[in-house]
Amino acid sequence: MTAAPARRIAIPEWLTAPSLQHLLDLLGPARFVGGAVRDTLLERKVGDLDLATPLTPDAVIQRLEAGGVRVIPTGLAHGTVTAVLDHRSVEITTLRRDVETDGRHAVVAFTDDWAEDAARRDLTMNALYLDRAGDVWDPLGTGIADALAGRVRFVGDAGARIEEDALRILRFYRFQAHYGRMPIDPEIRLACCRRAKLLGQLSGERIRVELLKLLQAEDPLPSLTALVEDAIWRKLGLPEPVALNRLARLLRHDPEPDALRRLASLLKSGVTETVMRLRLSNDEAERLHALVEWTLPEWDAGPIAHHRALYERGRRGYRDLALLAVARGRDPGPLADHIAMAASWPIPSLPIRGRDLVSLGMSPGPAISETLRRVESWWAEGDFTADRDACLAEAGRLLATAT
Ligand code: ATP
Ligand code: MG
Repeated sequence: MTAAPARRIAIPEWLTAPSLQHLLDLLGPARFVGGAVRDTLLERKVGDLDLATPLTPDAVIQRLEAGGVRVIPTGLAHGTVTAVLDHRSVEITTLRRDVETDGRHAVVAFTDDWAEDAARRDLTMNALYLDRAGDVWDPLGTGIADALAGRVRFVGDAGARIEEDALRILRFYRFQAHYGRMPIDPEIRLACCRRAKLLGQLSGERIRVELLKLLQAEDPLPSLTALVEDAIWRKLGLPEPVALNRLARLLRHDPEPDALRRLASLLKSGVTETVMRLRLSNDEAERLHALVEWTLPEWDAGPIAHHRALYERGRRGYRDLALLAVARGRDPGPLADHIAMAASWPIPSLPIRGRDLVSLGMSPGPAISETLRRVESWWAEGDFTADRDACLAEAGRLLATAT
């Protein structure tokens, strides 16, 4: 079945990088696999590079070190090492077959059989291999056709493959969002839905990666809608109700595939639960809280109120809130003007500091920041026009009335 390559393609630009060629010289038998092959075939931007090889990890390490390539044993137990090249790193994994799986961890054995390696991959469009000559190998026979047709399906029986690794449920909806050009196969949906409870055992980190990648698709709505309808969202432990209509409105007005902004549009409450379940970083958590919990003044609240919101939330924060206001149903008419204002209005900084208050006779301590806050608030109410002298005068006035 795999004796001959399925097709030959023009050698892609990324493959010609000298450091990559050197790596291939050292490795000998190796083929790119997964995303790089799929995306090359579909003429999409290629992200990270994965290589598959029949060599054992020890042999890979030996050859690379002998050739002066830095290699890190990132996942030796799974047969993966990482080669560090000039501008990128490449994961190199020994061909494997599954020996045992418990839904989270697989015990693997190394093999030199490309078809066995293909059989343990998740989706047919991800079980494609490309060698340095430009030959694409499709050991399962349907990967190329499925990728080109936008038919996202599991390698083998969906239910069995999900039971081996429940993350594949999320990967399925993620790839459907990015590559699907056909309605989701109802049998696959049923297989995912029936096994959704297995998602409870997955770590937040793994869920986070797949869900945020799903949200970055050009149009994540159809796949996400299916995911919610199939009770996957609920079984992930994420809060309901899910405001899919808000995401739909956001997508109409927001050209950027910003996963967190899209996630925020879906949430009516439950930010803390979401942050915990997805193990978001502190920065992401802070942003998500702000996105869900803040609202912008009404469009017609006047420039002072809007300048103030921009001053407080920063350019990106203001833009986020403006887009989310529209997602939540506000008139989209004034959006463009407000976004343009947020991009161009020079955000001022308060012309006085704590040491100025000390010069006015205040002793260092918490009262200083409190007074600065009051001056800042007064300055903002005046549309940030008061200069340093006027701010000092206001500080003096506050001090005089306080004593
Ligand atoms: P991208 O990197 O663009 O997100 P990818 O297809 O390269 O897409 P990776 O997560 O980098 O996805 O995984 C690389 C390859 O490893 C996949 O294409 C697939 O063949 C295999 N793979 C990854 N995760 C699983 C899994 N849970 N079960 C089976 N095979 C998997
Ligand atoms: Mg990849």
